[in-house]
Amino acid sequence: MFDTIEHARLSELHVKSNKETQLRAIVAIHNTHLGPALGGCRCIEYSSDDNALLDAVRLAKGMSYKAALAHIPQGGGKAVLIKPKAVIDREAYFESFGEFVNELGGRYITAVDSGTSPTDMEFVSHKTSWVSGTPTSGGDPSPFTALGVLQGIKACIQFQLNKEKLDGVHIAIQGAGNVGYLLAKLAHEEGANITITDVDQDKRERCADEFGAIIVKPNDIYQTDCHVFAPCSLGAVLNDATIPLLNCDIVAGAANNQLASEHHGNELHHRQILYAPDYVINAGGLIHVSLNQLKKPETEILHKTQEIGNTLFRILERSRRENTPPNLIADHVAEEILYDTH
Ligand code: NAD
Repeated sequence: MFDTIEHARLSELHVKSNKETQLRAIVAIHNTHLGPALGGCRCIEYSSDDNALLDAVRLAKGMSYKAALAHIPQGGGKAVLIKPKAVIDREAYFESFGEFVNELGGRYITAVDSGTSPTDMEFVSHKTSWVSGTPTSGGDPSPFTALGVLQGIKACIQFQLNKEKLDGVHIAIQGAGNVGYLLAKLAHEEGANITITDVDQDKRERCADEFGAIIVKPNDIYQTDCHVFAPCSLGAVLNDATIPLLNCDIVAGAANNQLASEHHGNELHHRQILYAPDYVINAGGLIHVSLNQLKKPETEILHKTQEIGNTLFRILERSRRENTPPNLIADHVAEEILYDTH
């Protein structure tokens, strides 16, 4: 456990159990240099307590890096609830988690993540004000994520293809869910040509009907001849099997953890495929949640989301200058901000 903590440079780790409500919770606070730690609350099954701990630490670190590069006054944290076989009383379960969050005195702010819903956050809010994403606050962050990805794609095409506009740019989108659909809509409105895939037939056909998108089978999206491949579904889609298939200039999409491992960033760099680091380009949702929690006006949220393009452009310039993959440059820049080493 201590090796995991030290390796991630985690600042705090808290655990709590409540036999009555079945709560078994871990809160990892990675870094509060820029402000209180913000990060979702995940409630899923784990094969061991160690795996739950590892997940909390890894995700909290990711949140710190994302917040630092999104220039928001918050640090990174994450809550992991080890899901019991069946939650007997969901309200009591999340209220006991709310008590735990409250005991941390505002150093950690929780929100929705895998396995939790706005209603669960409402239950949490009965016991603490350090919660975001209840049904009455905030709403869906996906439109901001999609807008940020669009700005990121524009920065990439300017950098890699010397193109100022999306007009005529071909974007192949993997996943027509909340973000993928909205990205297709925004890009189509600016004149891009869209190819789309989704395992859900209705979702992909909606994009064909509304945006004239070309539909391909899920496995055929990788070899689509396009300018931009935009992963907007699962993680780890850039791996040994898929990278050799890619027929694009740029990979820039919303999915979290797109690289199966760090060396796949090197592989893309080696193949001269420009990769937009996922946690930089998909930060619009976090910006929305964070600034909403801080009661900032929507104009400020939009402005910060649009800034994603400029942040990404600077990372790409440094990547070219230092001949180092953009994912590594993004990590360096985040660490410079978090540890004041620049
Ligand atoms: P979503 O669940 O609404 O959409 C994902 C889509 O991918 C679904 O339509 C699903 O049918 C499809 N899909 C699943 N497997 C597929 C496959 N093998 N091939 C093609 N399509 C497949 O999720 P979302 O909210 O749109 O988020 C998309 C990605 O972006 C996720 O990785 C998420 O973690 C990440 N992300 C989302 C946000 C946000 O604000 N929603 C913010 C940051 C990151």
